[in-house]
Amino acid sequence: MTEKIYCGKCNMMLYFGEEIKRRLYMRAIPSEETVLGYYKNVCPKCGNSLSLNTVKIETKGRKTWLTAQK
Ligand SMILES: [Zn+2]
Repeated sequence: MTEKIYCGKCNMMLYFGEEIKRRLYMRAIPSEETVLGYYKNVCPKCGNSLSLNTVKIETKGRKTWLTAQK
């Protein structure tokens, strides 16, 4: 399984790789929030505040859209 995280506002790809739940098992990346923390919780492209409610998370074969209207 692979996972992609996009900015919910401008669709910039913020993360692409092994599904984070599996990486959690491997202790590589603790959570999606840690990934967002790499960007200081701000989209480098559009300045959108990044949180689990303002990004879109897509996992291969199963789509989960987490979007928030702001
Ligand atoms: Zn953005």
